[in-house]
This record gives sequence, C-alpha cells and structure tokens, in this order.
Amino acid sequence: MLTDQHGRELRYLRFSVTDRCNLRCFYCQGMTKVVSHKDILRYEDIEKLLVVAQRLGFKKVRLTGGEPFLRRNFFDFLERLSKKFSELDFRITTNGTLINDDNLLSKLKALGIKGLNVSLDTFSRDTFEKITGKDLLHNVVDTIYMGLDLGLRIKVNVVALKGINDQELKQFIDLACLFPVDVRFIEFMPIGDKTIWKKEYYWSAEDILKNIKEMVPLIPIEHGQNSGPAKIFEIKDGRGRIGVISPLSNHFCAECNRLRFTSQGRLRPCLFSDKEFNLLGLLRSPKITLERLEKVITLIAQNKPMGFHLLKMYQNKVCSTTMVSIGG
Ligand code: SAM
Ligand code: SF4
Repeated sequence: MLTDQHGRELRYLRFSVTDRCNLRCFYCQGMTKVVSHKDILRYEDIEKLLVVAQRLGFKKVRLTGGEPFLRRNFFDFLERLSKKFSELDFRITTNGTLINDDNLLSKLKALGIKGLNVSLDTFSRDTFEKITGKDLLHNVVDTIYMGLDLGLRIKVNVVALKGINDQELKQFIDLACLFPVDVRFIEFMPIGDKTIWKKEYYWSAEDILKNIKEMVPLIPIEHGQNSGPAKIFEIKDGRGRIGVISPLSNHFCAECNRLRFTSQGRLRPCLFSDKEFNLLGLLRSPKITLERLEKVITLIAQNKPMGFHLLKMYQNKVCSTTMVSIGG
C-alpha cells in the first residue's frame, strides 16, 4: 500500500484521457490550447501506468477528460482494460452527450464499468447552452435515464452556480427522490483561467445544504473509507441520495486518497497544486523498467501536499492548469 508523508493511503488513480471536449463549459475550459497528439498519454502509456498502479495497491481508477468518449477507440481501450486489469474498479466521468445510445451503454455495463458520473448543471435548454455552448441537454438527460434503465450506477455531478442554477434546486432534489441516483453539488472551483471564477457565482456547500433542508429532510450517511470527498445524505422516502463536495469551504485533504495523471502524462499529486511531474519521456524511454517507474511514482506520491493550505495561503490562486487536462 502506498502511503504519503501525511499518512494517507493512496488507492485511487485518475486519468484525463484527453484534453479535448465537444462542450465549452465556461467554468472549465477558459482559453484552452489544444495539445498535439504526440504529447498526450497514449493508451499503451496508460496501460503501463496501470500495471505499476496495481503493484502499488491502487484499487479504483477513473477515466475522465476533456470528454473521454471523444477519444478515438475508447470502447476498445475499455475492453482491453477490463480484460487485463480485472481487479481494478474502473469508473468514468462524462458529459453524457455522446453515449445516449442503448447499445453503447449496454456495452459499458457488459465491460463491468461500475459507475458513470454524468455532469448535468441544469434542466433548462437555454441555461445548458449558455453554460456549455451547445444545445445538447436532451442527450445528457437521455444518457442518465437510459443508463438507469440498464441498471448502471449513475452519479450526477452538478457544479453549483449561484444566479445560474440555484433556482433549479427543487428539480435536482426531485431527480434524487424519484430515481436511484446520487446528485452531488460541487462548489465552483478557481481552476485554470483566473478571470473566470467570480464570487457572485459561488454557492457554498453549507448554503446548498441549508436550502435543500428547507425542502426535504436529509439523513446523513456515515463517511466510509472509499466514499471520497462527498458528504452524502439520504432523502427521507427518496430512492436516490444527495451529496455536496466542498473543496473551498470545507477541506477534505486529510482523507484524500487520489493521484491524478493529466492528459499530457503529468503526475499531479494534488488538484490544488500546479506542481506536476512530467513522466511522458520516462514512460516512453526504451530503458525504463516497471520497477524504476514504481520508484519514481512512489517518491512523488509520498510528497503529496495538503492542497487546502495552498488555497488559503495564496487566496485561491494556486491552480492555473485547466480542468480539461486535469480531469476534475
Ligand atoms: N467532460 C467530462 C464531464 O464534464 O463530466 C469529464 C471532465 S470534467 C473536467 C470533470 C468534472 O469537473 C465535471 O463534473 C465538471 O463539472 C467538473 N468541473 C469542471 N470545472 C470545474 C470547476 N471550475 N469547478 C468545479 N467543478 C468543475
Ligand atoms: Fe468538457 Fe467536461 Fe469541461 Fe464541460 S466540464 S468543458 S464537458 S471537460
């Protein structure tokens, strides 16, 4: 088991498999320069890293982006992973716009993908277009309902945006009441272009919970070892659950068990620190051995910082890498 300098056991690895996306969510993209293919992690690079990750005791792997389903041959890649790394628990985070198709979703289920996190910030077509630049709300909604019908475990990620989607709280609660989904509100984070994050959009987890409790009774759920940064609640008589993720207002660094690889093959020990280690050259070196890679990753992981302190110290201005390349 890989443990860092703060005694945190690292079990969860995330890969941004592409920095490209078919949407342009204003809170995520900023002005993004697209990186040339040769500088992006290849599938075989990721597979090599997964061999090492397994040796180091990682259990859960999330594939995200950019939009992962935009990457060519992504399904073939998933198929290879599910055969080669059957002990790893693979999850995917997606905007849900490219997989609103029964066959594709069934394929995901057949490949043993345990969970799909689908991002959905609004039920209004207009607001969706304003946030993402595309009129594709119906695709996302279809993906969620089709996925649920097929028995996929779905979590809905909502970036909480005051003045933009706070008026739709009731609709999100209804979704979690009627269907077995976790609806999780994520505080808007100051990542990437520093001009985008604005205080007036910021809707704190505390306020979100207060607003929800005015509408439905919530029952807190004990925080398990693998439950990640979300605070989760059951809804009285509801089929799904509500969660809040509060990176700004209430840090969860002490429980953070994750490492991230950016789409450019940089190992990023902490979301809130731009300190990244470019392993692309090393990964592709003909002389590199798995043992050497394991040593390098261990050394970097052991020095994983507590990002919340950085946020406080530098007044939220610590993260200039864009979210598309980090992967959330
Ligand atoms: N394209 C996929 C999607 O949208 O789900 C995967 C990549 S996206 C970067 C991963 C997650 O990060 C999404 O749930 C998105 O809403 C969230 N995200 C992006 N920018 C954010 C920000 N500034 N603050 C909070 N969450 C953000
Ligand atoms: Fe694309 Fe996801 Fe970022 Fe939106 S949040 S721009 S869908 S990567």
